[in-house]
Parts: sequence; structure tokens; C-alpha cells
Amino acid sequence: MRIARHGRPGMERPIISRADGDWYDLTPVTPDITPDFLHDGLDLARAALAAGRLPAVQLSARFGPPLRRPGKVVCVGLNYRDHAEETGAALPLEPVIFMKAPDTVVGPDDDVLIPRGSAKTDWEVELAVVIGRTARYLDSEAEAHACIAGYAVSHDVSEREFQLERGGQWDKGKSCETFNPFGPWITTADAVGDPQALSLRLSVNGTVRQHGSTANMIFGVAEIVRYLSRYMVLYPGDVINTGTPAGVALGAPDPKPYLRPGDIVDLAIDGLGHQRQLFREA
Ligand code: ZN
Repeated sequence: MRIARHGRPGMERPIISRADGDWYDLTPVTPDITPDFLHDGLDLARAALAAGRLPAVQLSARFGPPLRRPGKVVCVGLNYRDHAEETGAALPLEPVIFMKAPDTVVGPDDDVLIPRGSAKTDWEVELAVVIGRTARYLDSEAEAHACIAGYAVSHDVSEREFQLERGGQWDKGKSCETFNPFGPWITTADAVGDPQALSLRLSVNGTVRQHGSTANMIFGVAEIVRYLSRYMVLYPGDVINTGTPAGVALGAPDPKPYLRPGDIVDLAIDGLGHQRQLFREA
């Protein structure tokens, strides 16, 4: 089952579909897809879809982010061996964690703004985990899986000078306006199968830059959720960006192909849909 939000910015309406099926209006079940809905509403939505009680919708407008106001966005850094190597970083012995402001989340095909003064805006295709049940001091990966509502495509856009050359932690290069395209939909965990067997792809102006597999994560999604729950409480509607495979601009030989106004970035993950963004000046 997939859930999404469809319509102009701020006017999105919730929609739902089976894995490969038509889309239906979800407003008879909920006015929007919110963190609370992920906790209480998925079973109601599933029942309404199965009962044929929802009107069909024709897709014409934009997809918004599939979750209104995520709680927090937690990111895992250096979680693919090949990406850690291309950046010259040591392989982490424990997950590297940083936070991204949740108001960076935009729709999957919305324009992304290159910050003023930026010369090193970079791309990162990532598998996002969407939390559906509160995760607190989990003991096992089975408990962690039970807290995952679903998965989505996430673009952890990053400014490398702000991230790495301006002192402090990584946050300055991660929370710029529009820096987290998300969606087009959340696929529920039951419909994804093995989250460690998904292909991720990203291209810039038609040139393939990243082509990896979640099989190559250093820390798998259940281990990440279990681990995080020792250090913070995860709530329904929280999103975890689980890291990016090799192929970012930072890892390329000089001159590095950082993003410029007018560039088009396409990214996709098996079964989770496709994103396309135009990058332009802030
Ligand atoms: Zn990232």
C-alpha cells in the first residue's frame, strides 16, 4: 500500500493506492497524512481501500511530501562503505548521526534552491525510514521493524563548504531551505519486502552519478532504529535518512561537478518512486 499527498503546495489532499494500482481519495478516512495518522490511521485506510469505499482520483497535479510536517529528520552519515571511502573518512564503528531541520522537506519534484554564496551544493539519494510507532530503548531488530510504518525516497541535499569548511558540526550544510525532497509516496513496510535489497539511482542532467544497493549499508535499517532508540525517542512521523552510496560530487576528482542553477537531478529507488528537481538560485 502506498500513501501520498497530491495537489498544490499547502493544498495537498491525501491519496492511497495498492502497490501498483490506481490512486484513491483518502479524505473519507483522514483530512491529511500527519504523524498522528501514521500511528492510528493506517489500518483504517487499509480497510477502506479493501472495502472499495474510496473514490478514484486522476493524477494531474503535483505530489507533495507524503507526510505533513515530519516530526524530526534524523540522518545517518557514512553508512555505505564505498561512500565513506570516496570521502576519505574512516569506516564508522557506530552509526554517525546528525539532524536535519524537518522544515527542509519539500515535494519530490519541487525546485531546490542553491543557497546564496554556495559553490559546493551536492546530491545524496537515500532510503528514508518513516516511523509509525514510538521507539524507545528497543532491544531487538524485530522490535525495530515493528516501529517502521514504511519507506520513501529522500534526497539529502548537502552544501559541502558549509558542512565541512565552516567549523562546528555538519548541520550548516544540511538544513538549507528546500534541502530535503521527499516522496513521492510512502510505501508501507509490508509492501517493500526486504529493505536491504533495494537499488538506488541518481543522475544529474542525464548522467548517472549514483547506482548503489541498500545491501551495502554498514548499518541496516532495523539496527539504525534500534540504535537510535537508545539515544532519543523516535515518534510516529519521524523520518530517518539512512545514508547515501558512492557517487556524490564530493567524492569525484577535481574539478568536482557540484550542482549549478539549471541542473536537473533525477533519483529513484526500486518500488518507491522517482523524483526530479530543478536546481535554481535561492
Ligand atoms: Zn546523507
